[in-house]
Amino acid sequence: MSNLNIDSIKRVTYDAIVIGSGISGGWSAKELTDRGLKTLMLERGRDVKHIVDYPTAMTQPWEFEHRNQLPLEVRKANPVISKCYAFYEGTTHFFVKDDEHPYIQDKPFDWIRGYQVGGKSLMWARMTQRWSDFDYVGPARDGYAVDWPIRYADIAPWYSHVEKFAGITGNKDGLDTLPDGEFLPAYELSCVEKYFKEQMTKHFPDRYVISGRTAHLSQPQPIHYKQGRGKCVNRTICERGCPYGGYFSSNSSTIPWALKSGKLTLRPDSVVHSIIYDESLGKATGVRVVDANTKEVMEFFAKIIFVNAAALNTNLILLNSTSNRFPTGLGNDSGVLGKYVAFHNYRARINAEYDGHLETTTEGRKPSSGYIPRFRNVHRQETEFLRGYASGFSANRGEIRSNEGLGEELKTNLSKAKLSIWRVGSGIMGETIPKESNYVSLDKDKKDAWGIPQMHVNVGYDDNDEKMIKDFFEQFTEMYTKAGFTNIRTSDSKQAAGLDIHEMGGVRMGHDPKTSMLNKWNQMHACKNVFVTDGACMTSTSTQNPSLTYMAYSARAADYAVRELKKRNI
Ligand SMILES: Cc1cc2nc3c(=O)[nH]c(=O)nc-3n(C[C@H](O)[C@H](O)[C@H](O)COP(=O)(O)OP(=O)(O)OC[C@H]3O[C@@H](n4cnc5c(N)ncnc54)[C@H](O)[C@@H]3O)c2cc1C
Ligand code: SF4
Repeated sequence: MSNLNIDSIKRVTYDAIVIGSGISGGWSAKELTDRGLKTLMLERGRDVKHIVDYPTAMTQPWEFEHRNQLPLEVRKANPVISKCYAFYEGTTHFFVKDDEHPYIQDKPFDWIRGYQVGGKSLMWARMTQRWSDFDYVGPARDGYAVDWPIRYADIAPWYSHVEKFAGITGNKDGLDTLPDGEFLPAYELSCVEKYFKEQMTKHFPDRYVISGRTAHLSQPQPIHYKQGRGKCVNRTICERGCPYGGYFSSNSSTIPWALKSGKLTLRPDSVVHSIIYDESLGKATGVRVVDANTKEVMEFFAKIIFVNAAALNTNLILLNSTSNRFPTGLGNDSGVLGKYVAFHNYRARINAEYDGHLETTTEGRKPSSGYIPRFRNVHRQETEFLRGYASGFSANRGEIRSNEGLGEELKTNLSKAKLSIWRVGSGIMGETIPKESNYVSLDKDKKDAWGIPQMHVNVGYDDNDEKMIKDFFEQFTEMYTKAGFTNIRTSDSKQAAGLDIHEMGGVRMGHDPKTSMLNKWNQMHACKNVFVTDGACMTSTSTQNPSLTYMAYSARAADYAVRELKKRNI
């Protein structure tokens, strides 16, 4: 600040700064600008404009040089990112390559990132289930992590708010484990998915199979047309970017909306180094940025700061924001910054076959399938492991073609496809327990190309996760057997933490400033004009895909921050 004159300080002063332009940052920016705040959005990656910057959205498989497969040399050069199912020839431009942004794996951790305007909202799988009170009371009930300072009733109206704008499909299922929302028409279950649902109702009355809720415009409403988005046409190659705006991304929805207000300045190629804290004022005054291309260091100032760089990068920025008042990182009076990081256990899978309903098949594609909400340890602790798991359920028929013969005979055989019997499968979506021993920290010496310390990731599984996997196999084998499925096979991928792409925590919410970083408004206990509303704020992880909850927290916190600003409380 000292080397800037007053005029230049004015030029770079805003009401609010949002760090990161992904799912949570997009929502923070939309809500802040909706309420009239002049807002600066800082994004470390390049700009990605809706439609024009989706170069492969309309490319056919045969038009790719490698038929849309990853060449061996790309795979070898990128052992981490190549593990992500969505990283293929048509999407490589949206993912961080392993050598571009190094980090240190103290325990194996697959950190999957997208550094560009829109962040991972471009490539996400769009599953969007609400949390219930069973999820919020988990830590209070078993004593692991701290009590959430909010309950479902606090967040329910904000779920409704973001669902209506983003467009979420679903049925009113009436389940206490998975509250209903403001839904567009759900995608229909396939006939064997419906059959399994009936079997569950018959054999396990507390286990439900529903149509997974998902951020697709199955029937756009006026608010979606106003965003310039149209109906989803079920191509299911969404991770290349959707020219129709059929699924929710920051690029198709919140960012253009905020830009249209005239209140948002979007600055791509701006790597946030740290947050500037002013001891005499007792608050943060701005943000230090390194230009991604020129490496020029600059500062921007604002009354409030929203940190939305995605869970681990938000930890990194706060750990790197040191001052006399906060020598171990901004707001870290409790000493918990970087600790209690958790994720989702996605290791276990079960597959089987079903030879009923052979008179029917599926037609076309759909961006959703069955979803089985958590049924273990819901009302009381009933297993050896804590918390629970949800699961997907899908049933499809594939094609079988004979590749026997040569020449004309081979051609004829290949052109005659037979339908296989039904293939069914489920994958675990398990809650992991946040622990002090699962943490991230900064390296003292190693820096990245922008002079920012590299991050150590020390996050892994524990015995609770192993017990949960065992239970998943037992329960689903029984459920599949009762449904008459055969050739049941279980597999444990043993994949590292991180590949679930649901890393959370490190800047957790809690009642007590001595044991948590953020209060019930996602506001820093020790620095009231800084808000964290991405996955870093998560006190526990539940079983649900988390992004809908980040959207709701961002909108709720932005509303609160503006009210507090108007009252001059921050
Ligand atoms: C293949 C895939 C499938 C997924 N499926 C689902 C799903 O079905 N449901 C679900 O809920 N979630 C899913 N996710 C996870 C979901 O994408 C994330 O939870 C969500 O994007 C997190 O939002 P965010 O704003 O915290 O982070 P991001 O969307 O990652 O955005 C963070 C942004 O901050 C920027 N940034 C980082 N550091 C800095 C810095 N120092 N300075 C400036 N900018 C910075 C990044 O470049 C990025 O643009 C999936 C993710 C992937 C990749
Ligand atoms: S499936 Fe829907 S959202 Fe995905 S790319 Fe196609 S139209 Fe877009």
